[in-house]
Amino acid sequence: MRYSKQREAINTYLQGTTCHPTAEEVYEQVKHEIHDISLATVYRNLKQLQELNLIKRLDTGEGEARFDADLSDHSHFLCERCGNVYDLFDELVAPEDIADKLGKGFTVGRKMIYAYGVCDKCNK
Ligand SMILES: [Zn+2]
Ligand SMILES: [Zn+2]
Repeated sequence: MRYSKQREAINTYLQGTTCHPTAEEVYEQVKHEIHDISLATVYRNLKQLQELNLIKRLDTGEGEARFDADLSDHSHFLCERCGNVYDLFDELVAPEDIADKLGKGFTVGRKMIYAYGVCDKCNK
């Protein structure tokens, strides 16, 4: 099956990276392997992988959506200079604390916090 081969190539790439690529970055990478893949196909397959719960879509509120194959509960740091997204495995705020802030009667199951600033490479 042609489509599943493309989907597999996209999934394999995402499983092997922590750089949270955009759809276009995924396309640039997978193109090396599958020369005739189109950007539209990449978008479609990313959507399918998301529906299969194999990847997560990150909407940082800035720029394009990014994709993450790390499904563990973690947050992200976005560098406002280079646009890179870094994993942030924070224990800083517990879901219970967020529920407390929301008020009485709220429960929080999972959280994904976005922090913004300048990364170590850009600060050099
Ligand atoms: Zn940076
Ligand atoms: Zn991540």
